[in-house]
Amino acid sequence: MSETILVAIDGSDHAWKALDLAAEIAKNRSARLFIVHVVPYEPMPESLRAFARAENMPVEEEEARFHYARIVGDELTRVAEDRARKAGAGEVVARAAEGRPADQILAQADAEGASMILMGSRGLSDAKALLLGSVSHKVANRATCTCIAVK
Ligand code: ATP
Ligand code: MG
Repeated sequence: MSETILVAIDGSDHAWKALDLAAEIAKNRSARLFIVHVVPYEPMPESLRAFARAENMPVEEEEARFHYARIVGDELTRVAEDRARKAGAGEVVARAAEGRPADQILAQADAEGASMILMGSRGLSDAKALLLGSVSHKVANRATCTCIAVK
């Protein structure tokens, strides 16, 4: 089986940079490129949801927001796949997953047998003081394969 390189994208400039580097590495190594975006989802505890319902609070708002994020995430992966192909990557697979971003990135890397994970050093948040965002920090700490934080 050929080597798999995974790149995690969140739509940030750093992540696009990581995608371009990942596509270049995949091309040069004739590796498979696996692109993943995680639609962040943290289920509301059922008892809290029941409380909200009893208080007639609109729990559908949370679902509607998640549904929209899923649509945006699917489009993001499509655009990324296209960009990677244009950059010369051969076998490209793009997928939108749901859950906690770092956990999902690690689970996908494991499931795909990735030899390498590329991410942006930072993402969409504005915390300029951070050298590494929390997702790339967690992934780099817990991954068993090579991790590249692209700046
Ligand atoms: P934080 O989210 O901790 O406030 P941040 O947004 O600046 O800070 P991270 O979220 O760690 O930093 O983003 C760093 C990189 O991790 C991104 O460039 C991207 O490669 C990856 N990443 C972040 N969130 C996701 C996600 N939801 N799906 C896929 N990759 C992600
Ligand atoms: Mg972030």
